[in-house]
Amino acid sequence: MKTPAVVNFAPEKGSVEIQEISVPSIGEDDILLEVANVGVCGSDLHQWTADHSWPVNYPVVLGHEFGGHIVQLGSRVSGWKVGDRVVSETAAVIDVNNPMSRRGLYNLDPTRKGFGYGVNGAMTRYVRVPARCLHHVPGQLVFEHACLTEPCCVAFNAVVNNSHLTPGDRVIVLGPGTIGILCAAVARLCGAEVGIVGLPADKGRLEIAKQYGCETIVGDASGWARERDGLGADCIIDAAGVSATLKMAMDLVRPNGHITKVGWGPQPLGFSIDPLVQKNVTLQGSFSHNWPIWERVIALLATGQLDVSPIIGGVWPITEWETAFQKMHHGDVVKSILKPV
Ligand SMILES: [Zn+2]
Repeated sequence: MKTPAVVNFAPEKGSVEIQEISVPSIGEDDILLEVANVGVCGSDLHQWTADHSWPVNYPVVLGHEFGGHIVQLGSRVSGWKVGDRVVSETAAVIDVNNPMSRRGLYNLDPTRKGFGYGVNGAMTRYVRVPARCLHHVPGQLVFEHACLTEPCCVAFNAVVNNSHLTPGDRVIVLGPGTIGILCAAVARLCGAEVGIVGLPADKGRLEIAKQYGCETIVGDASGWARERDGLGADCIIDAAGVSATLKMAMDLVRPNGHITKVGWGPQPLGFSIDPLVQKNVTLQGSFSHNWPIWERVIALLATGQLDVSPIIGGVWPITEWETAFQKMHHGDVVKSILKPV
């Protein structure tokens, strides 16, 4: 049996098409997951437009934000059964003996390979998933929301684990994409006052960010950053997809403040980072997520404390991937979701 898949087949810009692929065979520690929904990530768009910063194993099925039902179990899998509702983490291949894996930080294992670039992802009907990647999805959490657990985990790691917010902090989020808006939403849950910054072209996406109780700022945020005591914001969360926004972050942050960089881009920088030194600022990177973050985010989604419905711009069959990608690419929607056909 063959099913359609959204395949990124070469490194050249625009090298994505629908191909018919076989149902994957699974190993003894894997399950076969029947995909219910898969989110389109900025990184899927970057591979499509060929401006990504990571190595890709071409050809590869795109998609790493997904959930669905277990339809087959490998011989050594225990604790799961056919029919279970699950979402999957993204670290499809890790070295379990890497020192980072041994301390639970397998997301930082340098040999890690993820779905959608290292191994085949979920923009198709069936995907092979190691059982260690799975998390239960409670019955009340619909898959159109559950498939966005992954970007919520990226935001949770950036805001909770890597930014150390305290209630009342004034936080500025740079970039109103999915990760930026979710970082803003999680910072609100932490009790922060949040301003989210975008460009004039981001008006629609900033309007959506307002639904999470954020201040929205087009262009220069220095007035809002300095409104309290003239010194700047406690924390800047940089979720823009370029490195150059670090300059803006260094300007907006208060002395002894914190900058967390979760957005990335391969362009080199051409400015001084002296303000980091002079202001005694902490610059923190944030990458991916691990098991305890997933469990906590699923709880937040299931209780409705974190609601992803405002960011969902539509659900398309995977055969209409190009419409779904274009809408996100042009900022018409924050997040596109696909479902297999
Ligand atoms: Zn993603």
